[in-house]
Amino acid sequence: MIYLDGHSTTPLAPEVFEAMKPYFLERFGNASQGLHRYNWEARAGVDQAREQVAAALGAKDKEIVFTSGATEANHLALLGSLPALLESGKKRILSIRIEHASVLGALELMEERGCRVDWIRTDREGRVDFDHLRDLMGADVGLISVALANHEIGTLQDLKRISDFARNHGCRVHTDAVQAFGKVPFTADSIGADLITISAHKVRGPKGVGALYVRRKNPRIDLEPLYLGGGQERRLRPGTPDTPAIVGFGVAAESALRTLDQDTERLRRMRDRLWELLSGALEGWVRNSPADGLPNNLNLSVRGVDGAALFGRLKQVAVSNASACLNGIQDYSQVLTELGVGRDLARATLRIGLGTWNTGSEIEAAAVELIEVVRDLRMMERQFAEQTGTFSMNGDKP
Ligand SMILES: *Cc1c(COP(=O)(O)O)cnc(C)c1O
Repeated sequence: MIYLDGHSTTPLAPEVFEAMKPYFLERFGNASQGLHRYNWEARAGVDQAREQVAAALGAKDKEIVFTSGATEANHLALLGSLPALLESGKKRILSIRIEHASVLGALELMEERGCRVDWIRTDREGRVDFDHLRDLMGADVGLISVALANHEIGTLQDLKRISDFARNHGCRVHTDAVQAFGKVPFTADSIGADLITISAHKVRGPKGVGALYVRRKNPRIDLEPLYLGGGQERRLRPGTPDTPAIVGFGVAAESALRTLDQDTERLRRMRDRLWELLSGALEGWVRNSPADGLPNNLNLSVRGVDGAALFGRLKQVAVSNASACLNGIQDYSQVLTELGVGRDLARATLRIGLGTWNTGSEIEAAAVELIEVVRDLRMMERQFAEQTGTFSMNGDKP
């Protein structure tokens, strides 16, 4: 198998696994308590990971809150801002419709609890329309949430421009930076956001752990915790810390940062090679990802084939079409639909997410299988069309 689904999750790096092991077996203490060596050892592991994650974001240790993943970090950033928004009367929120489901879900709940969300228009590749942002802005806007990189098509936003604009209006900025982290260089100050979400398992760390960066100064961002009880994580996230996962996150973050420049180059080269092979062999690809987007992302729709048949025939290549699968029923991609791609074409879409585990020969082999499957399906569609006088599933001539 060739794993090309790196936007969904990534394989744990061996050095991350090695670093985690002792924290399961020997250093199993409670990192939020003192009094004996077991707890101190666990605490030291968490402290070190906090330094590593903070360094990767150019932040201070105190600005990092460990959570159970990016979903929780997004909820803490958004729902945790709710009391401040309601108290200050700045109840309007600006966001875009192609955000990750965990952001959209939190925003929906905030609307039920007294806020109003206005959606900033985007261009066909998902970039924020700044004229529209300016039109929507007002003294009653308390929060803007826009992902640094889109999880389906890899669009990168000019977040610094959004943050500078928001700051002039006394409005806080949250960004879901899960897909950008470890793929493009940025720091908390270079993007200017007040709240930044990241996740370990998208950078070869373990699942079930993430972090929220919370700005402490200029301005200091006040949040309310989602859960109550303990004083852990500056009272923002009570509960006994998952020491092995946090330690693994620290190592993964450090290593992502250390190799960022060379990884970016290599990923971009593999992505460009894959596109060259596919587009050279076959016509009828629609490239949904912008050329200046994430270096590891290639989102392609295939004309003239049925999406279900396409995914049913892939044997070697593990790839996603980014649609949600709920209760066994495959939906279609919300992001592509929002950007104007028809539903049938959205189903026949490959969301390719490359990673540091991929090799050049995997890229060649993946292209061979993808080309073969699309050729076969188009041939079958053509024969079917000739026999019945109808055209193919996604409305195009095969
Ligand atoms: C994967 C992902 C999430 C969810 O992360 P978890 O750690 O699995 O909760 C949130 N946002 C984006 C953009 C993602 O890609």
